[in-house]
Amino acid sequence: MSADQPTVLVVEDEPAQLEILAYNLEAEGFRVVKAEDGEEALLSVAEETPDIMVLDWMLPSVSGIEICRRLKSKPDTRGIAIIMLSARTEEVDRIRGLETGADDYVVKPYSMPELMARVRAQLRRVRPATVGEKLNYGDIVLDTEGHRVYRADELLKLGPTEFRLLVTFMEKPGRVWSREQLLDRVWGRDIYVDTRTVDVHIGRLRKALCQFGGDDPLRTVRGAGYALG
Ligand code: CA
Repeated sequence: MSADQPTVLVVEDEPAQLEILAYNLEAEGFRVVKAEDGEEALLSVAEETPDIMVLDWMLPSVSGIEICRRLKSKPDTRGIAIIMLSARTEEVDRIRGLETGADDYVVKPYSMPELMARVRAQLRRVRPATVGEKLNYGDIVLDTEGHRVYRADELLKLGPTEFRLLVTFMEKPGRVWSREQLLDRVWGRDIYVDTRTVDVHIGRLRKALCQFGGDDPLRTVRGAGYALG
């Protein structure tokens, strides 16, 4: 399993539904995290920010709407793509009216292929590199399929770790990543690596990006981490 595999959090209180969703999302290449109620979902997000959430509206403890509203109101969780599941079209209309900030809505009973298509559409938006899209930032072009990086049309020499770091930054320009978040994303959650290792590789990435000149596009944010631009 690659460390930068996209993660989806599925929140559904019906166990059979939860399992079938998890099964299909795993088949789509996601790492799946499951939660059976609202409380568990919020704890899970606090522990690890998923890329996408498939969120049932009707849940015990905290409702899907409330979860959506809370996550969309915080800067560090606003970027999670949320697909809300709801039993009736009238409910979907209400969710829309409530301005919860959900990115998409699917009415139950849904067709699995349709839901997966909606999930892929969100993935293309929030993690473009995982679906093979080229990433651009200023004069930097990252070709995820060819594993190549160009700056002002010059091919850059870049180590594999620096490449993965750059993918992470270029998928979300401007976002500030803490060292811990970069460790989770680039090295994986199950590997013990000192946070200072991140600084070492950031240093190498900076050098690589400027090997043919140009400004250093990476920004050190004191007490917070690093950002691109
Ligand atoms: Ca439910």
